[in-house]
Amino acid sequence: MKLTFHGAARQVTGSMYLLKLSSGYKVLIDCGLNYEKDVPREENANFPFDPEDVDLVVLTHAHIDHSGNLPTLFGKGYEGQILCTEPTWALSDILLTDSANIEAKRVNTKRKKKRPTRRLYGYKQVMDVVEHMVTLKFGVPFKVSNELTIELVPAGHILGAASVVFNVTEKGQTKRLGFTGDLGKSDAKIVVPPTPMDDLDYLVLEGTYGSRFHKEERSAEETLLDHIQKTCVDQPGRLIIPAFSVGRTQAILFTINKLFRQGKLKNIRVFTDSPLGISSGNIHDDYVDFMNDEAQEFVRQYRDLFRFPQLDIVEDKEDEENMRKTYEPSIIVSSAGMLDGGRIQRHIANNIQNPQCTILIAGYCTPGTLGADLLEGKKTVRIGKHDRDVYARISSTDVFSAHPDQTELVSYAKSVQQKSTLKQVFLAHGEEDSLFIMKDVLSSDFEHVTVPKRNESFDL
Ligand SMILES: [Zn+2]
Repeated sequence: MKLTFHGAARQVTGSMYLLKLSSGYKVLIDCGLNYEKDVPREENANFPFDPEDVDLVVLTHAHIDHSGNLPTLFGKGYEGQILCTEPTWALSDILLTDSANIEAKRVNTKRKKKRPTRRLYGYKQVMDVVEHMVTLKFGVPFKVSNELTIELVPAGHILGAASVVFNVTEKGQTKRLGFTGDLGKSDAKIVVPPTPMDDLDYLVLEGTYGSRFHKEERSAEETLLDHIQKTCVDQPGRLIIPAFSVGRTQAILFTINKLFRQGKLKNIRVFTDSPLGISSGNIHDDYVDFMNDEAQEFVRQYRDLFRFPQLDIVEDKEDEENMRKTYEPSIIVSSAGMLDGGRIQRHIANNIQNPQCTILIAGYCTPGTLGADLLEGKKTVRIGKHDRDVYARISSTDVFSAHPDQTELVSYAKSVQQKSTLKQVFLAHGEEDSLFIMKDVLSSDFEHVTVPKRNESFDL
């Protein structure tokens, strides 16, 4: 078999790997949007293979950098199935529809600026994707043919995220290849810890945080309570938490809910302003059995993970106006996480000159985004068409991070190794520097560690 790294090679976005068996059967693992800073979005329309020749797609999870180019694949002639878990199917539906909305706005804006561009895809292609999804259960091998069996294993990260094991039999010899997909932290909120794959010959390991270490040693509850105490209790103010709609918004709301239920928080209003966050929360409610023990126990006790009496859901202009006019201590959770778009920008614009306001950035921000500018401590930032001086306080925490740090990645790889006779480890889904640091760290315990280049192929 031959494995080609068509995306997320020495970069984070655009996950896409093609596995070609000796019979000629082709499986694509993930088909994400490449949204690196220097890559025009239109470039996603060009596949380095013929989509009509692909026989099967396996999708690890719903994030757009893994799923977001699937509609283009269908637009270019792919007609086969997409294997994934049930929560991934449900989350992909809302995330890809949102992506089609963004695509329509992008094309309109360019047209107005007299720089017309082609739309990558529309709602029809999103429907094609969702209709061709076939859901698999974790841990139940799916026999595709005599030469190929596929098994999904829990990866943590976000609801329904999977690692994928390919069991390939060629010329009487069986080899096992495992893709981690994006992994989660072992102590993450809501999602289960990742299960290391076993009996592998080859491992494709994500390395998003290959060079980083999570600093926060306290629990999510202790960390968030401390921030709320300093910003809303010790001196009555406003705490704004930008959060991605899928995963982080739910983790933060669940943690706040828990603090209220434990009696550790009182008299603080909480607003959530993210339509996608709400629909994503509704999908979470449907798949409680995919969650970790803590979340399942909480649902048994209180029925609801994300809704609580102190929570106001912002649904229309009137709700938004009410929120704006709230002068008592309050918390606003809104998307997007890196502050580069979405409703959060309005909240930041309204509050950035308020010294009583704190913006808590709860995750990594790509350089060039508003989130990164604030973290860097810029005194003036551009929001929309306006430059604004920063008087609000800026803090950060990595306690809600969705990826393992270097220590956890190495320990995951060692767990796989203990149950396997690994011939080679490939590092993907990370910035180039980060992956080479990981390679150095792993090299003392693993004989062959490779950082593939984009479109590089390997005979396995
Ligand atoms: Zn992801």
